[in-house]
Amino acid sequence: MTGRLAPLAIVALAWGSAALPAEVPAHHADRGFRNPYSDSVSGGAGNFLRVVRMRFFSDMWPTYDPARDRVPRATPALASGASANATVTWVGHATVLIQHQGINVLTDPMFSDRASPVSFAGPRRVTRPALTVGELPPVDVVVISHNHYDHLDAATVKALGDGPVYYVPLGLRRWFERRGIDSGRVFEMDWWDRRYHVSGARSLRLTATPSQHFSGRSLTDRNETLWASWSLAWDDFQVWFAGDTGYNDRQFREIGDRLGKIDLGIVPIGAYEPRFFMRPAHVNPEEAVRIHQDIGATASLAIHWGAFFLSAEGLLTPMHALAAARAEAGIPESEFAAFAVGETRRYPARR
Ligand code: ZN
Ligand code: ZN
Repeated sequence: MTGRLAPLAIVALAWGSAALPAEVPAHHADRGFRNPYSDSVSGGAGNFLRVVRMRFFSDMWPTYDPARDRVPRATPALASGASANATVTWVGHATVLIQHQGINVLTDPMFSDRASPVSFAGPRRVTRPALTVGELPPVDVVVISHNHYDHLDAATVKALGDGPVYYVPLGLRRWFERRGIDSGRVFEMDWWDRRYHVSGARSLRLTATPSQHFSGRSLTDRNETLWASWSLAWDDFQVWFAGDTGYNDRQFREIGDRLGKIDLGIVPIGAYEPRFFMRPAHVNPEEAVRIHQDIGATASLAIHWGAFFLSAEGLLTPMHALAAARAEAGIPESEFAAFAVGETRRYPARR
């Protein structure tokens, strides 16, 4: 019996090793990266042409009306000294300042007037950030979700300089080096890589986590660098920053399962119309609420709206649509809030 089974076992072993060559993660492509649960974040040429037609040859694309498009503003109330709470300020778009235990973290810092490679064209900022770079407290840590212009801004990074330590997805270290940032202050991470940022007696555990998006700053570098969401875990408070993402019903449940208790989710709600084009890479408010529930966050903060016209919905539409999505899901405002630009809220740590 054994003698007859042995060759079979050898065949099975050989087949097994052939089928699983070198354990390449599902999001690593031959060249660059890809989404494990969506093939179509590029939308295809037909969809692209439909959007170009909408954008440039129809009146379906919104334009800025200063009387109508007034995003609520508030004065930041930054942390001063130690507190039992985490202090969270929406600077604008995807830029959030999180202050806890004396460690200041800034997400996707973008303080410029245009989300574009050039200063004379591309999406213009219609709502200025709540603070200037000079008004920020000392920034210890910066996390970058991906290299799109509304999330990674050269002028802002130059202004921040070697002050912070930068945690970035795979492939982005060279971008920082080329802009004169000390390479010892830039850490590239793959999905589920972990690092500890130690500051005095305190430490922050950073984990790069998945998202469903894409990358590129020109016509030739599509998906060459990775995109990511981030867990920022203090010993008594965990933030999860989504960056930019579309929805699928796998990744966010996995993130919730693996990270444990998430006290605050930071989730995008804007840049989602037209759906036939935007859906794979940008959630709408309804899907943002689903992400909030999938990760099991105690509370969430809505970002990625109100600053740039990146898509076909109105500037304030995501805020109103979030209110409707919350009502539909039966959750209170405090559980998934759209802050005013500059608004600060404090969230209790777990002790
Ligand atoms: Zn993006
Ligand atoms: Zn974006």
